[in-house]
Amino acid sequence: MRTLGLLGGMSWESSIEYERIIHERVRERLGGVASADLLIRSFNFADIEELQAAGRWDDAGELLARAARSLVAAGAEAVVLCTNTMHVVADVIEQAIDVPFLHIADATGEAVSAQHLDTVGLLGTRFTMEMPFYAERLREQHGLTVFVPDAAERAFVHDVIYNELVRGIVSDASRTAYVTIVDELVARGAGGLIAGCTEIELLLRPTDIAVPLFPTARLHAEAAAAWAMGDAP
Ligand code: GLU
Repeated sequence: MRTLGLLGGMSWESSIEYERIIHERVRERLGGVASADLLIRSFNFADIEELQAAGRWDDAGELLARAARSLVAAGAEAVVLCTNTMHVVADVIEQAIDVPFLHIADATGEAVSAQHLDTVGLLGTRFTMEMPFYAERLREQHGLTVFVPDAAERAFVHDVIYNELVRGIVSDASRTAYVTIVDELVARGAGGLIAGCTEIELLLRPTDIAVPLFPTARLHAEAAAAWAMGDAP
């Protein structure tokens, strides 16, 4: 069993699910009392959110790279960043460590391709929906066409994440509004929907929408568990 280093707390509402999913996958495969071997660095999300809101991505990158290095020094054999948004600084983290960095967009892109889809809708924070780091990787490395909602809907999706989901609030009204936004993406041609924020899958369930849902925290955690159990180099 290989040791995983998790950079979490962004927010803990979802990173706690990563931990649960990784342990469950290990138990399913190995049985008995087996569980994953994890090192966890969980941040105070208030500090992270402040850096995001101020656009201080360099400082955020430095903070996460330093934390990744300390996980590796403590024995992590791969690093898992338990959020989509902070993958904006994935390159900085990757360059700071000499072990694999398991990218969330790759776990997601591979799951989409495995279902033979090449068009997807993407919901996430405004950073994930608007900055190139995420959709570009899905396009260039996984051959996907990515649809995002219009500006007003992006603002709404973003606000629900920060005002509700990272605070543990799951509301039926927001779910209904998200479903309407997904329906529009499907009408534009999206054959699947990437829940590209690790808290969205706490709100949106596969049965809520008409196309396959790709829950990024689950897919990323499952890929990490598989890696820990030796499935990939
Ligand atoms: N966890 C979220 C994501 O996957 C949003 C919160 C954050 O900005 O880190 O993007």
